[in-house]
Amino acid sequence: MHYYSLQHTAPRVDFRTATIQGQAPDGGLYFPESIPQLPASILNNLAGLSREALAYEVIRPFVGDTIPEDELRRIVAETIDFPIPLKQVYDGVYSLELFHGPTLAFKDIGARFMSRCLGYFARDEKQPITVLVATSGDTGGAVASGFHNVEGVRVVILYPSGKVSSVQEKQLTTFGDNIHALEVDGNFDDCQQLVKRAFKDAELTSQLFLTSANSINVARWLPQQFYYFFALQQWKEKQPPVFSVPSGNFGNICAGMMAWKAGLPVRHFIAACNANDVVPRFLETGDYEPRKAIPTISNAMDVGDPSNFVRILELFGKDRDQLKTMLSSYRTSDQRTRELIRSMYQQHAYLPDPHGAVGFDALADWIGQHPGQKGIVLETAHPIKFLDVVEPVIGQPVPVPASIEETLTKTKNATQIEVDYSKMKDYLVNSNPF
Ligand SMILES: *Cc1c(COP(=O)(O)O)cnc(C)c1O
Repeated sequence: MHYYSLQHTAPRVDFRTATIQGQAPDGGLYFPESIPQLPASILNNLAGLSREALAYEVIRPFVGDTIPEDELRRIVAETIDFPIPLKQVYDGVYSLELFHGPTLAFKDIGARFMSRCLGYFARDEKQPITVLVATSGDTGGAVASGFHNVEGVRVVILYPSGKVSSVQEKQLTTFGDNIHALEVDGNFDDCQQLVKRAFKDAELTSQLFLTSANSINVARWLPQQFYYFFALQQWKEKQPPVFSVPSGNFGNICAGMMAWKAGLPVRHFIAACNANDVVPRFLETGDYEPRKAIPTISNAMDVGDPSNFVRILELFGKDRDQLKTMLSSYRTSDQRTRELIRSMYQQHAYLPDPHGAVGFDALADWIGQHPGQKGIVLETAHPIKFLDVVEPVIGQPVPVPASIEETLTKTKNATQIEVDYSKMKDYLVNSNPF
C-alpha cells in the first residue's frame, strides 16, 4: 500500500514513511492510493472473529509489508487492550463507549497504535526519535500515555499554563521517564506556533529526529476504523446502523467512512457539530468557509477548519451530491447540549459527556426525520473529564473511575517556559533525551 499527498506534489510513500513524516513535504495529508475491500468471509462473520483478529484484518492492508505479521498482531492487541462496549440507551439508540482506555477518551486508540508503530520503526533508526506535540487538553494525555516507555522515542508536550483541566494536567505531567511536559506561559496558539517553528528550523531538524503526533498522522487516523467494526460485531438489529459522530477535526468520522468503503454495512453517517459549523454549512450551501474556532462546552470539537475534511471529499471524488447521500451534519448549541445531558440522565439514566450529548442530539434529529431507523452515537469521552460542565447540569457529583484515581494523587512534573522559541530549542537540544 502506498500513500499520496492530497497536494499531489510530493512523492508516494509507504506506511512507514507516512507515519514517521506525519505530513507530506508539500504540506498535504497522506491518503491511501486504494481502499482494500474486506472479503465476504470476514464481513459475513464479524461476530465470529475475535476483536484482535478483526482489527488485524482491517489494518493489515494499510500497513503493507512495513511491519511483520507477529509484530503487527502484538501492536493491535496492545492497542485495543480495554473494552469498547455497545450499550442500548433507549429504543433504537445505542452508545458505543470509547472512553474505557487509559485517558478516558477515544484518542487513546489512535495514540496507542501510532506509538507502537513508531516504536517499531525507531528500532532501525540510528538516532532516537523526538515526538513534539502541542495540546489544548485531550491529545497530550493520550499521546503521553501511548508513548510512555516506548523505547527509542522521547515525547515533549507543550501545553498552555492554566488552560487545561486539572485532570488533563495530571495526565500530561505525571508519567516521567521518556515523557516531558513543557508548561508554556501562553495560550494554545502560542504552543502550536512554537511547535510549527521547530519543524521549519533546518538547524534543529538536522540535529534531532523530530516528528509530530497530531491527528492527521495516518497511524492515528486509520486504526479508528476499529470502532465501527467493533460496533457491528455487537449490533443485533436487522438493519444497518446510522452512525452519529461528534466531530471536530473529522478524523474519526472519516475513518468510519473508510470502514464503510471497505464493505462495512452502514446506513448513513451524521457529523454532529457544536457552534463550529463549517461542515453543516458546506453541505447546505456548497461553500467551504473556514472560520476562527468558537469556544464551546464541547471544546475538543472547537475547530474552525477541520483538517481531515479534505480526506472525506477525496473519498467521494470531491462531489458534494455524492457525499450528501452518505453524510449529513447537524449543529447543536451549548444550551441544547446541557438540556440533552440533563434529559438523558433523567429519562434514560445515562450520563453523556458534552461531546456525546451533541451526538445524541444529532441522532435524535435524524431519526425524527427518518422514523424507524436505528443508530449508534460514538461516545468519545467519559463525563468525568468535563466535570465542570456536567456536575452543575445534573446537580450531582460524577463518580471518579478507579482507573484515574491514582493519576490524581501523583505530583505534577513540568518545566515552565515563556513563549520564547530559543528557550524551547535550547531545551530540546540540551535536555537529557531519556
Ligand atoms: C478529539 C475529540 C473529538 C473530535 O474528534 P475528531 O476526530 O477530531 O473529529 C470529539 N470528542 C472528543 C472527546 C475528542 O477528544
